[in-house]
Amino acid sequence: MAFVKTLLTNLPRACMRAPNGFSKRFHSTSPLSSVLQHLSEDEKLMQSTVAKICSEVIEPIVPRMDRESTMDPIVIETLFENGCMGVEVPTKYGGVGSSFFTCCLVIEELAKVDPAVSVMCDVQNTLLNTLLLKLGTDAQKSKYLPKTSSSMVGSFCLSEVGSGSDAFALETSARKDGDHWVLNGEKMWITNSAEAGIFLVFANINTANSGVPRHKGISCFIVEKGTPGLSLGKKEDKLGIRASSTCPVHLEDVKIPAENVLGELGKGYRYSIETLNEGRIAIGAQMLGLAQGCVDRTLPYIKERKQFGQPVFQFQSMQHQVAHVMTQIEAARLLVYNAARMKDAGLNVVKEAAMAKYFCGEVATLTTSKCVEWMGGVGFTKNYPIEKYYRDCKIGCIYEGTTNIQLNTIAKHV
Ligand SMILES: Cc1cc2nc3c(=O)[nH]c(=O)nc-3n(C[C@H](O)[C@H](O)[C@H](O)COP(=O)(O)OP(=O)(O)OC[C@H]3O[C@@H](n4cnc5c(N)ncnc54)[C@H](O)[C@@H]3O)c2cc1C
Repeated sequence: MAFVKTLLTNLPRACMRAPNGFSKRFHSTSPLSSVLQHLSEDEKLMQSTVAKICSEVIEPIVPRMDRESTMDPIVIETLFENGCMGVEVPTKYGGVGSSFFTCCLVIEELAKVDPAVSVMCDVQNTLLNTLLLKLGTDAQKSKYLPKTSSSMVGSFCLSEVGSGSDAFALETSARKDGDHWVLNGEKMWITNSAEAGIFLVFANINTANSGVPRHKGISCFIVEKGTPGLSLGKKEDKLGIRASSTCPVHLEDVKIPAENVLGELGKGYRYSIETLNEGRIAIGAQMLGLAQGCVDRTLPYIKERKQFGQPVFQFQSMQHQVAHVMTQIEAARLLVYNAARMKDAGLNVVKEAAMAKYFCGEVATLTTSKCVEWMGGVGFTKNYPIEKYYRDCKIGCIYEGTTNIQLNTIAKHV
C-alpha cells in the first residue's frame, strides 16, 4: 500500500482521475485541426454545448458507469434536454432540425469522454430517428418523433444469433393475423435495449417455402415496450462501452397493429442497408472522438512525466510517434467530415461511409494502444482513463459491419 502511495505521489497528476473519477485537466488538441476552423456558428454552438455537458455531467461519472455497467438516468435526461437525441428531427416534432453533419459532431464530442454514451446517441439519431423520418407516415411521425426527441430511447433490432454479417439470413417471422401482425423470434446484441421504449424490429413476412427470395420478405415493424410477448434477455457483460446496454430481445407472439408497419412490406432489407450505410459515418465519428479524447488525456501526462532528467515527450522517438498518431486522427476527421457533408448534400456515400468507418476503427485502435504505451505502467491502470479507451475502441471494428465487411464494400467500388 505504502508503495502504491509513493508511486502515485511521485507521478504527474495530469489527467489522473480524482476519487470521483473526474480527470484533473486536459487540453483538447482538436482545435488545431484546420477543418474545425470552418464550422458554421450553429455547428460550433452544438459542439460547445455538448462539450459542456460532457465535462459537467458525464465525465465525472464515467468510471462508475463503466464499473457498474449502467447508464445513469441523469445522462439520458441531459442528452434529451440538450437536443442530442433529436439532432435531425425537425423542430415541429421537438427536435433540433439540424444536419447529419451536426449529428456526427455531437457523436464525436460525446465519444471524447465516453464512447458508451456516444453510441446511445448514435443509435437514437442515425438508426431510430432516421428510419422514422424517412419511412414514417404522418401519423407515425407525429406519434413517435416528439417522444424520441424528448424522452423515449429506442433500439434498432436487426441482428440475430445466426445472422450477423449476413444480416438478411434473419429468422424472426411476421405473420398476418386480421388487422394485426404477430412477431416471433430472437434478436441479439441490441444496443439501448435496457432503456428503450420503442424497438424497430426487422422480421420476415415470407416463409422459407414461399418460393419468394427470403430477403424480399424482410419488413420493419414498430414495437412498443410493454407489448405482451416482448422481453429482454440478460445484459451482456462486455469488454468495452460497458455503460451501453446490449441485450437479446425475445419476441414471442408479439401482436402489433398493422399501422405499426414502418415503410413498405418487403423493403426492409433495402431500408436497413441504406440506414447502416449512412450510420457507418457516425460510427466513424464515434471512433474519431474516442481517439481524440484519448490523446487529449495522454499528452499532458507525457509532457510532465520526467525520465532521464527531461519530460518523456521531449525524446524525439516519442515525438515522431505522437506526430504519426496526430496525422492519422486528422485524416480520420477529414474522411468522416467529408462523408457527412456528402450525405447532407444528398450524394451517394456507400464507399465513403465504409472508408470512414474502417479507417476510424483502425486509427482508434492504433491511438489507444500507443497512448497506453506512452503513459508507461500507469496507462495500464484504472487510475487514469486511458485503459478504458483501449477497451472501448474494439467495438468500432465490429458493429454496424465488421472491418472485413467494410473492406468488401470498398473493394466492390474499386
Ligand atoms: C456491443 C454490440 C452492440 C451491437 N448493437 C447492435 C444493435 O443495436 N442492433 C443490431 O441489429 N445489431 C447490433 N450488434 C450486432 C453487430 O452488428 C454484429 O455483431 C456484427 O454485424 C457482426 O456480426 P457477428 O457478431 O455475427 O459476427 P460474424 O458475422 O459471425 O463475423 C465473424 C467474423 O467473420 C468475418 N466475416 C463474416 N462474413 C464475412 C465476409 N463475407 N467476408 C469476410 N469476412 C467475413 C467478420 O468480419 C468477423 O471477423 C451489436 C454488436 C455488439 C457486439
